[in-house]
Formats: sequence, C-alpha cells, structure tokens
Amino acid sequence: MKIAFISSEVYPFAKTGGLADVSYALPKALAKAGHDVCVFMPLYRAVDKVKYGLHLYIDPLNIEFASADHWSALFESSFIPCIGTFFIDNSEYFGRDGLYNDDYRSYKDNAERFAFFSKAVIECLKKISFRPDIIHCNDWHTGLIPVFLKTLYSNDSFYKRTALVMTVHNAGYQGNFSKEFLKLPELNSKIVNIKKLAHSDGISFLKAGILFSDKVTTVSRKYSEEIKTEEFGYDLAGEFRSLDDRLSGIPNAIDHETWDPETDTNLPGNYSAKDLSGKTVCKLELQKRFGLPADAEIPMLGVISRLTFQKGMDILADSLEIILQDEKFQFIIIGSGDVGIIKKYEHIKKMFPENTGLYQGYNEELEHLAEAGLDIFIMPSRYEPCGLNQMYSLKYGTIPVVRATGGLDDAITEWDRETKTGNGFKFNELSQEELYGILRKVIREYRDKGNWVLIQRNAMNYKYTWDKAVKEYEKVYRSALKS
Ligand code: ADP
Repeated sequence: MKIAFISSEVYPFAKTGGLADVSYALPKALAKAGHDVCVFMPLYRAVDKVKYGLHLYIDPLNIEFASADHWSALFESSFIPCIGTFFIDNSEYFGRDGLYNDDYRSYKDNAERFAFFSKAVIECLKKISFRPDIIHCNDWHTGLIPVFLKTLYSNDSFYKRTALVMTVHNAGYQGNFSKEFLKLPELNSKIVNIKKLAHSDGISFLKAGILFSDKVTTVSRKYSEEIKTEEFGYDLAGEFRSLDDRLSGIPNAIDHETWDPETDTNLPGNYSAKDLSGKTVCKLELQKRFGLPADAEIPMLGVISRLTFQKGMDILADSLEIILQDEKFQFIIIGSGDVGIIKKYEHIKKMFPENTGLYQGYNEELEHLAEAGLDIFIMPSRYEPCGLNQMYSLKYGTIPVVRATGGLDDAITEWDRETKTGNGFKFNELSQEELYGILRKVIREYRDKGNWVLIQRNAMNYKYTWDKAVKEYEKVYRSALKS
C-alpha cells in the first residue's frame, strides 16, 4: 500500500513526547513490511537541516490558504531509512522556537498554523505525485485533513481511491478554537457540515478528524474503551461512542534499534538480561550527573516526563516529600512543563539535596542514561493513552511502578512473589497514601536481591515489537479502503 503518514512531530527531527517516537517507528516498520511510505511534518526552526540532511525538494511552493498566497517550500530528508520525510517550510507559521507554544503559552494562531499545514500536505502529495491509498493522520493537528479531503477535494480524481485513518494519541488535547475560525474560506458551510466540527462555542479539530475519517484508532486497547467515557474522552466521549466498530485500539510498541541496552550508544555500559553489570555502570554515571553520592546498592527511583497534571506529577511530589523522610533512597526527575509542579520538585530538591536530583528541560541522551541507570521508574498518570516509558523501562530492566490506567495497565503485570511472575507494580488510586504504600513496598522488594533479578528478567523478556502492531494497522487500512 502507499501510505502518507502525517504528524506534527517526528523523532529525531522534533519531539515533545511519545507522538514523535511513534511517528518515527511506525512508518519505519510499515516500510519494512513492504509498504511505500512517506512522512510529512512542519519544518520548525528547531529541525537541524544539516544534521539530518534536509534538501530543497520544491521551491518556491505556493499554497493558497485563507484566500491568500502563502509562499513556502518543501524539504526532504532520507534520514529515516526507506522513507521520504517531507517538511513543509513556511517561516510565518513554523519559523519559531517552539512547536506549539513559547515558554508561557500556546501560540495564538495554532488553529491557522495547523490548518495551513493540513492543506499544504494535501497539495504537496499531488506535487510529488504520491497518490496514497491511505492518509494516516495523527492527533488534532492533522484533524482538518479528512475534512478538506472529503469536502474541498471530494471531486479531485487524484484522491479518488484514498482512505483516511486517524490515530488519537491523547484525547485530552482536542485542538479547540473559537468560532471565528469557522470563517476560514476552506470551511465554507455550503460544502462542510459544520455540525461535525462544532464544539461548544467554536471548533474542535479532533472532533473533525475523527468524524471525517474512515477509521479511527487509539494507542492501547484499554484506552479505546476508556475514551468512550466522560472521564477520559471528555466532551467527545459521545462522538467516540458513535464510531462503533470504526474505532479500535492498537498498542504502541518500541523501536528496538533505538531502545536496546545491549547496543545503546548513549550508555557508558551496555548490558543484557544475562549480564546486568553494565546497568550498575550506568547507575553510577547517572548519580554522578545529578551530583548524588555514588552508591550501587541504594534504590534509585525516577521519572522522565512532561511535568503535567495528566502525568500525576503533582501528587507524586507531595508523596515524595513524606516518604523521603521515612525511607532511604535516591530520586531523580527529568522533565519540563507546569511551573507550579516544577516548584514542588525544586522544593523537594532543597529539602533533600543529598538524595534528589532535578533536570529541567529536554535531553535525549540523559533520557537513555536514566532509563538504564534507574532501578525503578514511576508513572502515576491520571490517564495514559499508551505511554512509552513503561515499555522502555521494561526493556532496560528498570522496574515500572504504574497507575493501572490505559496502556500502563495493558503492559504491566503485577509481580507475584509466590509464582515469580509479573514485570512491575500497579496501584489504582492516585492518592498520597497509595503512592506512599506502593513505593515503600517496591523499595522493600528491591532489597530482596534474589527476587529483584527475577522481576528484571521478566521485564526484559517483554516483547512487543512494531511488526505486530503493523499487522493490526494493515487490517485497519484494508477495512478503511473497503469503506
Ligand atoms: P507523552 O507523549 O504523553 O508525553 P509518552 O510516554 O507516550 O508520553 O512519551 C513521552 C516520550 O517523551 C518518552 O520517550 C519520554 O522519555 C520522552 N520525554 C518526556 N520528557 C522528556 C525530557 N524532558 N527529556 C527527554 N525525553 C523526554
């Protein structure tokens, strides 16, 4: 099949979260399975053109959008093997430091930026003569692609055989904008059923995307059920329910070329389930980086995450403040996000300077070192569509402690001392008491070295490869084409 995969972020070019990892690994796996795949993303200022070998593909490129000519260019890179990655270059919309926001708030013109991106992708596919069987859209940023294709381009013979699939990576981000945006000429109510876009007093890009696509997927089975409830689907729960069998859940996997402790070039020591000695080398290096006392025996707990309410980082900070008084362990956190939450961790760092470390910002090399060097990885998410770090942690023998929600619940099976089965620890209630209880329990387990190695082996044997997910996506693509 010819598949055009469209995403607002793609690793390694630009990444703020798991969407970028998936937008790298899934197209690569689809190409490996024999499909003809191209990927489109915006050319943000942050993309390193030299490092990733970007070259001009079309210049100048004129995109008519919002009744004006927008002079742009199309770049291409072959950095991801077997895939053409295309970048829409428009300095007015994408020539800024952030992807979606500056240090303080979302860009005011995000609706316009991603509507432009969506139209530009449709135009560019024609210009590069890539006639897709499937356009695979991801999250709200691409939500207008299905709308434009089924309205503005409905008579365009180039797209006659193209089916639309949309993956929802996080229903908490819906791309809701004011009703002013409905004045966009491309959304003329004579051709577009505005009800399918309307949301409270404005427009929802995500709603548009799911209602205009032929098939919709989410990134774990449990989350595909959860989003049908108001708690997880918010005010789109009804729309998700209305999709019936057009909606399915396909769990994300991990890219074993990027995430493998035996070959990871970011690590000072490589290791495997058979010989874990390299993991201790990584732990000592991680302690050094955070200015913590070198100690191979002390339990080292940590998190790499967006520091947001969704991730439960507020409650974790409150619990740590108490448990650090009662238990001897080290804790580090790598992340950026909510200023109020960062303050909490700064406070903890001040209270326990000998035991805790905080790295504010995004750092890929440190992310790999932490996955390898930590003993225990905590994910107390309020909700988690799939989550990748629990899978990276399993692969690196770093035992996940997760709240039983979404993809976390799917991937982790509770350790059982009797049967010696299980690859991590789960808890249900996101409260200080439960977190306190589970962390104490896990720290005690860690001290039982005989059992701990067994949990690590179980974890490292976890195998969920993209090849398996690709088979499921192929099924979805085929049925989208039929419909
Ligand atoms: P989400 O997409 O909701 O943020 P995921 O678990 O799906 O959550 O993916 C997050 C990805 O981003 C993981 O690869 C994680 O390691 C990475 N990440 C998050 N924050 C940072 C950071 N500050 N530095 C490096 N990587 C980070």
